[in-house]
Amino acid sequence: MGRRWTVRGLAGERFCGDRDHKMVHDLDHEDAQCHIDEIIEHSEAMPFRTIEEAHLHGYHDCPYCFRLPWVDRTPAH
Ligand SMILES: [Zn+2]
Repeated sequence: MGRRWTVRGLAGERFCGDRDHKMVHDLDHEDAQCHIDEIIEHSEAMPFRTIEEAHLHGYHDCPYCFRLPWVDRTPAH
């Protein structure tokens, strides 16, 4: 499965920041609970090529797509 998002600010970047929540998502491991479509819908997508870049901008890892162990995941695909 590839990255689905190549529109509205996302040009193939792996990571997508949510400007509203200051959360960064890993589009290679997108989860249904990430609601990437809503982020893009509200024009809050902030693309990052590397996770380090996202952290430099003060973004936190999303618990779903970063597979934190205490989170119940719902695969988006
Ligand atoms: Zn996520």
